[in-house]
Amino acid sequence: MSQQLKFIDLSAQYQAYKAEIDAQIAEVLDSSGFVMGPKVTELERRLARYVGVDHCIACSSGTDALFLVMLAEGIGPGDEIITTPFTFIATVEMISLVGAQPVLVDIDEATYNIDPAQIEAAITPRTKGIVPVSLYGQPADMDAINEIAARHGVWVFEDGAQSFGATYKGRRSCGLSDMAATSFFPAKPLGCYGDGGAVFTNDEKLADTLRALRGHGERGRYQHQLVGINGRLDAIQAAVLLAKLPHFEDEVERRIQKGAYYTERLKEWVRTPVVHDYNRSVYAQYTIRVPERDRIGERLGQRGIPTAVHYPIPVHLQEGYRDLPYGEGSFPVAEGAAAEVMSLPMSAFITQEQQDRVIEALIASLP
Ligand SMILES: *Cc1c(COP(=O)(O)O)cnc(C)c1O
Repeated sequence: MSQQLKFIDLSAQYQAYKAEIDAQIAEVLDSSGFVMGPKVTELERRLARYVGVDHCIACSSGTDALFLVMLAEGIGPGDEIITTPFTFIATVEMISLVGAQPVLVDIDEATYNIDPAQIEAAITPRTKGIVPVSLYGQPADMDAINEIAARHGVWVFEDGAQSFGATYKGRRSCGLSDMAATSFFPAKPLGCYGDGGAVFTNDEKLADTLRALRGHGERGRYQHQLVGINGRLDAIQAAVLLAKLPHFEDEVERRIQKGAYYTERLKEWVRTPVVHDYNRSVYAQYTIRVPERDRIGERLGQRGIPTAVHYPIPVHLQEGYRDLPYGEGSFPVAEGAAAEVMSLPMSAFITQEQQDRVIEALIASLP
């Protein structure tokens, strides 16, 4: 039997930058400063410059980045936030957790991102903001969404957990709207070695509020001016990201090449990702669409090819969200995608030989 392939090859990446990562981590160990500190400050400065915004607020995860913005914007009971049913649960979870109502809008058939044409009908006097998710590494149509939001006086908050490094009309993800969140979970395009995340914004007052909320609402030692959380980032995670950041653009280029190679060889066989020509996707996931998805996934597994499903159940059909006013059939495009999407092994370190193995096994597994 052939050797088991990795879904995301994090060990190849570590081996490639081992000396730099180890040296960065050693500096933290020598300093004994394990939470926040100069590495985190340096990381925030460099991430803000990379994205092209004034402020980066590093925090403990992508989920906390979403949560912190909800807190900073004072979102709570009586408020409505518009987002997509086809995302990782955290996007909707953080809206529910602060007591607001998630208002879901179906996705665009081509990109799986929220469909801007359906947003306006979902806006009510209670709407406070729109949270588009840049799914699989490709931004939604942000100009269209920003324009609708401006017309109705609501904010736009990009969930860029999968799209750090992506661009939309030449501008980088996380710098496309009033504020944005990203995640540095190890499997994300830019990953640390544990949990981490960040918020990006040009709004200085919001950035100041977020910095306070991240540290128990503190402004000055034991001066708790706001009710906040422990949303701090570990210095070791910042050290890992500082070591990886100089290589990141090169990784993004390689991801794009590898995505293009899959598409070139698979487009006659399966439905391959549609990336608009004004977008650059970082392929956080390389996700195809196939009928009989589960059977094909099983056959690939038998051939040593791991696959994943992002995501098998849309948010409105999840047990924990049964109180939302939706049911089966509410979002037909999202439900259709959930039944058929399948993600293939992808990273900047997958070799052409490994991709060929995936491609050949997939073609042989089709019904
Ligand atoms: C991963 C992810 C998150 C959550 O990030 P964590 O760092 O795992 O908390 C939120 N939204 C989306 C779309 C994600 O993919």
